[in-house]
Amino acid sequence: MGFKDIPHDDYERVIHATDDESGLDAIIALHNTKLGPAIGGIRCYSYDTFESQLNDALRLSKGMTFKNAAAGLNHGGAKTTVNASKIKDRKLAFQRLGKMINLLDGKYICAGDVGVNTEDLYRVNDGTSYVAGIKLDSSKPTALGVYSSIGALLERDNYKLDGTVFVVEGLGKVGGALAKMLIRAGGIVKAYDPWEDAYKQFDSNYPIEKLLKEEVFTTKSDMYVPCALGGTVNMKSLNMMKADYICGSANNQFATLGDAEIARTIGINYVPDFIANCGGVVAVALDFKNKNYHNALTFDLNLRIADIFDAAENADISVQQAAERFANYRLK
Ligand code: NAD
Repeated sequence: MGFKDIPHDDYERVIHATDDESGLDAIIALHNTKLGPAIGGIRCYSYDTFESQLNDALRLSKGMTFKNAAAGLNHGGAKTTVNASKIKDRKLAFQRLGKMINLLDGKYICAGDVGVNTEDLYRVNDGTSYVAGIKLDSSKPTALGVYSSIGALLERDNYKLDGTVFVVEGLGKVGGALAKMLIRAGGIVKAYDPWEDAYKQFDSNYPIEKLLKEEVFTTKSDMYVPCALGGTVNMKSLNMMKADYICGSANNQFATLGDAEIARTIGINYVPDFIANCGGVVAVALDFKNKNYHNALTFDLNLRIADIFDAAENADISVQQAAERFANYRLK
């Protein structure tokens, strides 16, 4: 087994973990543990180059530091990327990865991410106890956190979910669960997903209006709920947008920080993505301590959102900037 440090000024440790027998080729990026042991998922993906695998681990681990700090967790950020195309024996590869994560003595608590299933996490668990959320479907707490954020956003303007019109983009694990929660609360949901089967989960108890791709931004609604891809809020979409609010689960919803400023200028209110979509990691962190996540994603999250909105108003900055300041303040 190979366990080689790749020196990097901005990261506590970056490790290239390899194993010839199983074909394991992993990068473990430990970005920051100032607030406590880092939490971050293991992503398994077919990377074309070592650089793209390394960059993914660096970018994602830094993002986790930010998200965990803003979520009020006493955890730092880390991420592992495994090159799927190099694996020869999957079971052994994840067992060996577990052994290597164990060498970090609890500074890194790993979890699942894209391309990693429950069985893989059990094999990691053969080699280390520093694995969380094995049996947890993170999309449910993520949906609950977004639902709670939507409630907090509307409540600030004395609106209720009942009768509010939502355009949900993406009806996958998070978007589908969220759309049902909104309908149960009396919301009117219009949605677009290119995958036709995504609509099958909505029967007559959950009426939903199907939209075409080109109708997502032109349809009159109260709130745009991005639950598919990042970067959908940009100059072009803001020009067309008929909604007054934005809140969803997708990461990096604003194409640039400038777009968050434009949203503020034209009076579109939003909850920053890394605040609204923290449910998965909050649930994983609390699962590690055998605690329930429900209060953290309803009561605590609502208070945090109110604080961030107040800070934005007082400093006359965008909510996105206020959220970033909040995360940075905790990290100082
Ligand atoms: P998912 O893969 O289950 O669902 C994504 C859905 O989006 C699919 O149904 C897909 O068909 C649809 N889609 C793809 N392209 C689209 C497009 N152009 N327009 C509309 N729909 C499109 O993923 P998920 O777990 O539901 O996650 C949704 C988003 O939330 C992602 O951006 C993810 O990174 C983010 N997120 C998820 C979690 C989690 O716990 N699952 C946590 C934080 C953030």
